Amino acid sequence: MIEKGCHLGILSLIKKWYYHGESVICKGVTMNFIEAIKEAGIVGAGGAGFPTHIKLNTKAEYFIVNAAECEPLIETDKYLCRIFADELIKGVMMISAHLEAKKAVIALKGKYKAEITALKEAIAKNGADIEIFELRTFYPAGDEQIIVQQVTGRSVPERGIPIEVGAVVDNVGTVIGIYEALTKGKKTTEKYLSVVGEVKEPIMLKVPIGTSIRECIQSANPTISDYAIILGGPMMGRVVAENDLIDAQIVTKTTGNIIVLPKDHYLIRRSKVSIDRIKHQARSACIQCRMCTDLCPRYQIGHRIKPHLVMRNVWREHTELSTEEFEKSFGDAANCCDCGLCEMFSCPMGLSPRKVNGYMKGKLREKGINVEKNPNPVARGTVDISKVPTDRLIARLNLGQYNGLHAHSCITLHPQEVFIPLSQHIGKPAKAVKNIGDNVTIGDVIAAADDSGLSANIHASVHGIIKDITPLGIRISVN
Ligand code: SF4
Ligand code: SF4
Repeated sequence: MIEKGCHLGILSLIKKWYYHGESVICKGVTMNFIEAIKEAGIVGAGGAGFPTHIKLNTKAEYFIVNAAECEPLIETDKYLCRIFADELIKGVMMISAHLEAKKAVIALKGKYKAEITALKEAIAKNGADIEIFELRTFYPAGDEQIIVQQVTGRSVPERGIPIEVGAVVDNVGTVIGIYEALTKGKKTTEKYLSVVGEVKEPIMLKVPIGTSIRECIQSANPTISDYAIILGGPMMGRVVAENDLIDAQIVTKTTGNIIVLPKDHYLIRRSKVSIDRIKHQARSACIQCRMCTDLCPRYQIGHRIKPHLVMRNVWREHTELSTEEFEKSFGDAANCCDCGLCEMFSCPMGLSPRKVNGYMKGKLREKGINVEKNPNPVARGTVDISKVPTDRLIARLNLGQYNGLHAHSCITLHPQEVFIPLSQHIGKPAKAVKNIGDNVTIGDVIAAADDSGLSANIHASVHGIIKDITPLGIRISVN
């Protein structure tokens, strides 16, 4: 057991941690490594929000920090690497010690020179044994399975997770959150995010969770008044185009970026095409060139996915197919990770294999078909020569005018009200543990993880009074 304190060097901290059962005393409370992370409500900051206390409750050969930030325009992880390099390195050391990892790796693009310099300085300062793995500039370098293949040479099983090949992967923000939780008892109450696109200049914001997205955009000085947004990156982010829906959006634990775009931008128009039209286009215009398959990153790491065959078979969907035939025709769709490369870059006909795959995944579920998984995929010999350069992708996405602009400053917002969702993670919503009218301070648990399944604690992100509790979330007004 160790007392957390700045009088101890980080290396001795880790040794003691490792050899003394990982118990920590934080703010006078004794708890172990996993309990402290659970208490803080930490979830994957860069993706779907997988509860981190569950992901890290293991041992692993590799601990990999995903700092690739492969989606165009996003600034957040780069900013965190530059500004919080020391915290990031210390967090990596703590997590690696807990995992008993033989290798700790931070993977980011080789072109991120300033970030690499900051990280190397922090590594030297802390005497850390951490490798900087320089990725090429391609999309989707930050896909968890692609990054594992690049760093370890191992392909994660179909629909599997990195620990199946001995790796644990966490996002930059997650690692910094863990460091803050373990050393300061800090809870997950704020987010760093970038606002880019049709704004005066790209900007970083630090905001309480539950802050309105409109407030974030206003503080970034939008250059147009009637806009649509993408929450996340242009490839995998969520498009919100209607004004009333934009009004309802709030910052959650997984929000990392907001793109402001004209409502008639190519990406916004494309998001509105109906699945019936997409299937009709597939039937009538697919020329079976198989570019969607040859550039598919999951195909390249050896997964059984051939989107050109799913496209070829779309016409058969409503014919009398047996379960076996349906699986043979459309089962590959189950291995699609939704990266969007096929529809946004590969297809010369402007078709949407991704959306057809998404549709077919739903049909497989409806029919109760469990597609067999290949547990031992092997990357194809072409894996390193089939990468799509990010600059070419940006041009194809019609985002060239925003490319190369970077966020140089960070503003802290202090909203008068927040709405904090009970479900900001994969799994079951947290259960509200406060009542309307209760006073809360930053870091108070307002909803507890549902221990009957995957879940995560939710904390107050402002000092204030609870104004409303709904099945979706808790509204707090600042005192
Ligand atoms: S790339 Fe487009 S046209 Fe070529 S096989 Fe795939 S869907 Fe069909
Ligand atoms: S979205 Fe397209 S490119 Fe990406 S994994 Fe699915 S089929 Fe492959």
